[in-house]
Amino acid sequence: MIPYGRQSIDSHDIDAVVDVLKSDFLTQGPQVPKFERALAAYCNAKHAVAVNSATSALHIACLALELSARDLLWTSPNSFVASANCGRYCGADIDFVDIDPDSGNLSVAALEKKLTIAKANGRLPKVLVVVHFAGQPCDMREIHALCQPFAINIIEDASHAVGSEYQGVKTGSGQYSDITIFSFHPVKIITSAEGGMALTNDPELAKRMSLFRSHGVTRDPELLQEEAPAPWYYEQQELGFNYRMTELQAALGLSQMRHLDRWVEQRNLLAKRYQQAFSNTVIKYLPVSDDRLSAYHLFVICLPDNLKLQHQTIFEALRAANIGVNLHYMPIHLQPYYQALGFQVGDFPQAESYATKAISLPLYAELTTEAQDLVIETVTQLCEGEMQ
Ligand SMILES: *Cc1c(COP(=O)(O)O)cnc(C)c1O
Repeated sequence: MIPYGRQSIDSHDIDAVVDVLKSDFLTQGPQVPKFERALAAYCNAKHAVAVNSATSALHIACLALELSARDLLWTSPNSFVASANCGRYCGADIDFVDIDPDSGNLSVAALEKKLTIAKANGRLPKVLVVVHFAGQPCDMREIHALCQPFAINIIEDASHAVGSEYQGVKTGSGQYSDITIFSFHPVKIITSAEGGMALTNDPELAKRMSLFRSHGVTRDPELLQEEAPAPWYYEQQELGFNYRMTELQAALGLSQMRHLDRWVEQRNLLAKRYQQAFSNTVIKYLPVSDDRLSAYHLFVICLPDNLKLQHQTIFEALRAANIGVNLHYMPIHLQPYYQALGFQVGDFPQAESYATKAISLPLYAELTTEAQDLVIETVTQLCEGEMQ
């Protein structure tokens, strides 16, 4: 099976992890802060907090922004469930902003309309989680301009998008948001096996996220509420969690960063090959705006409307041909958990319609041109065959 995504590991990565195993610290040692500093520097952000997953990063981001019960979090229905679940962990209500089907990203027009209605109803969100779908940054300048008058906090779920750029600036710089989070799951751009990171330029948010990462406990004399009466003294100041990243994970993530730019470039080259191959066929794909560099976590094709009914047939035929396609995403609001909260079919028609046409094709740094040609040939033959 050619998978839709997979990691690349070289001997440097392996040595980095083995070195940690032979060292004094398997957790809470020097690797985590090193990885944090490296990614913060890469993104030109002031602070970074590494955790055991992007899901944990989203949770501590919401906690640091003081999202709580009675508050509202908005996100895109075209995402992994974690983008919405982070709000539920804090007891907040969730609502969604429909997508622009051309990019799969949250629609600025839909956001503007929903904000007008929410303002009239006095029910504005406290947090907006934008998702840089497939690796292409959202329209951050416009989204920020719409949210600013209402002091809505913006979290960028950049799980797909480490290494991407918006108007010449790296995602994670925090130019138009409060916090950016990344995922290092093996299918993403770089991996730490499991892992995530939250970046911010706000020292207060960074401090709070660090606290929530580790039980809400601190020993830092500068942060203590009471003067330390004894050397063993520490304080639990919040109800935090154990979301710490291990030293093994941080060493792997740091080692993977050596390849980040080259892998993003390689993913773009492979995406261009797909685009060229499909340009004279019925197969559509999601274009990337001129002012953005996508990290190309995913290469998504969209079937034309007259092939909608064949979506599942084509999907199954590709899997049968050992091509590990996937659907990103089944709309979050249609998951049983969210339907039980009151969401229904028809609530976000663009995301729903998109999910009836989209197929993610294999894309990863070490995808060979031979394997890619096989994917192109199989997809094209299937789609054109179904058209007749
Ligand atoms: C992968 C992913 C997550 C969750 O990442 P983990 O590191 O597996 O917790 C969250 N949001 C999006 C958009 C993702 O793709």
